Amino acid sequence: MQVMVAGAGPAGLMLAAELALAGVEVAVVDRLPQRSPFCRGFTLNARSLELLDRRGIADRFLAEGPTVPYGMFADPGRPLDLSAMDTDHPYVLGIAQTRVEELLEQWLAELGVPVSWGHEVIDLEQDGAGVDVTVRVGGEQERRRVDYLAGCDGSRSVVRKRAGIGFPGTAATTYGLLADVELANPADLPFGMTDGEHGTVFVLPRPGYVRIVLDEPAPPADRDEPVRPAYFQQVLNEVLGHPVQLRNPRWLTRFSDAARQADRYVAGRVVLAGDAAHIHPPAGAVGVNVALADAVNLGWKLAATALGRAPDGLLDSYHHERHEAGARVLQTTRAQMILARRHPDLDPVRDLFGKLTDLPPVNTYLAELAAGVSTRYDPRIPGAHPWLGTLAPNLKLTLGERHTSVAELLRPARPVFLHLGDRALPSSADGGVDTHHARCPEHAELEGMLIRPDGHTAWISTTTDPQPTDSLSTAWSTWCGAPAFSPPGLDEHTDQLGQRRT
Ligand SMILES: Cc1cc2nc3c(=O)[nH]c(=O)nc-3n(C[C@H](O)[C@H](O)[C@H](O)COP(=O)(O)OP(=O)(O)OC[C@H]3O[C@@H](n4cnc5c(N)ncnc54)[C@H](O)[C@@H]3O)c2cc1C
Repeated sequence: MQVMVAGAGPAGLMLAAELALAGVEVAVVDRLPQRSPFCRGFTLNARSLELLDRRGIADRFLAEGPTVPYGMFADPGRPLDLSAMDTDHPYVLGIAQTRVEELLEQWLAELGVPVSWGHEVIDLEQDGAGVDVTVRVGGEQERRRVDYLAGCDGSRSVVRKRAGIGFPGTAATTYGLLADVELANPADLPFGMTDGEHGTVFVLPRPGYVRIVLDEPAPPADRDEPVRPAYFQQVLNEVLGHPVQLRNPRWLTRFSDAARQADRYVAGRVVLAGDAAHIHPPAGAVGVNVALADAVNLGWKLAATALGRAPDGLLDSYHHERHEAGARVLQTTRAQMILARRHPDLDPVRDLFGKLTDLPPVNTYLAELAAGVSTRYDPRIPGAHPWLGTLAPNLKLTLGERHTSVAELLRPARPVFLHLGDRALPSSADGGVDTHHARCPEHAELEGMLIRPDGHTAWISTTTDPQPTDSLSTAWSTWCGAPAFSPPGLDEHTDQLGQRRT
């Protein structure tokens, strides 16, 4: 087996699909006997929808729930306007995390990869050539040899611990309680925020029940102690200052503001993604979305590495890019937790921050930051084109008579090289890259783009740039492997119909 993915949450399912698209032999194992019916998250943000679009499956998700052009940054009373974000999806999609996982699992099955439920990774040992993974299946232990192991096994990741990867960060200082329940009398507690005598209660409508979230008044003696219905009822009544009767509890849990990040996302032949690589406060509801973004960044790099055709350092670039992105998420979610804290000392800061948020450019900055739309893998090249390192815009293109888009060309999850102008560009004989001779009427100044399988721009040239052979050669060898370039003018491999020739 080339790759084993431990964990069939959003990170593991997306990663396995990316590996399967690249032709890698992959196994997905999950310790649960079946998917948990309890739903943590309820949203997909713009960046996730952009990524799913680039695999041709966004419509499956968009068909499932409402899109809402408002988001939240710290203050529920002051919603962010998402409509000005620079994206095809200027909204948040309301969809249960469990449904996101079901749809991803279906897609993965279409790609020929089933999930092995009831398979728990309990140990691993790696050497220079592979990883021996110990898996518990129905009380028995099996040892499996794989080339690479991906730990997508959540915040308490066994893979992370057994690989000896550090998880530094800040410990929990406050805890929240969550209950999916019914209100005996729905009029007792309205949806949204209710300020009680000793704190605030947040109520979210769900089909047939409500989700109630509140701060736990004191840290629990044992954070793993299950949250009992009677305890939740008691805390709710205390916070409100009067009794509100709950019934039919479905799911109760506790969460904290701990923020930690793995010090290495890649350790030899072990990689981490999603909550296994980072945990952060739930502010902004981004965990599923960050997990998907990790998986899409990692998938093609791990695939190229497992198939023996990765340029030097490609897998390490996953750590560099996503560790930096993850650190930003930790910082942003922690900032929101601090701003949301109900303490009179913070009132002036909250007031000032609120006024700033009302300024349209600040609103858009925060919206794009929280939705991951502004994520840029910084090329650190002074004066670089602003798209370099960002998710390439979903440009409308013509290939001869055919109309297409960047998102459509990225569906096979391969690098895309676009010849967009009249000037001849060097051409490469690299068989792993889809080359198209296209036109982009919206951006006639563009001459060429190299786009990575995760949709990020690896190279871009405009008609006013000097002949870009060197920069193209560098980008190509960094992301796609050693190129064998023909000089400009000898580009006989592309044609106006845009057929793939390299
Ligand atoms: C109360 C709460 C509310 C949240 N709300 C939101 C929200 O609204 N929006 C949002 O985007 N995010 C939300 N999140 C965060 C989100 O749920 C997580 O960030 C997301 O699930 C991370 O995905 P993952 O695939 O990395 O990990 P997980 O979803 O945790 O999946 C890990 C999988 O690994 C399996 N596993 C664990 N150990 C092993 C093992 N040893 N061997 C094999 N399998 C194993 C588990 O069974 C699980 O299926 C919320 C989280 C909480 C706790």
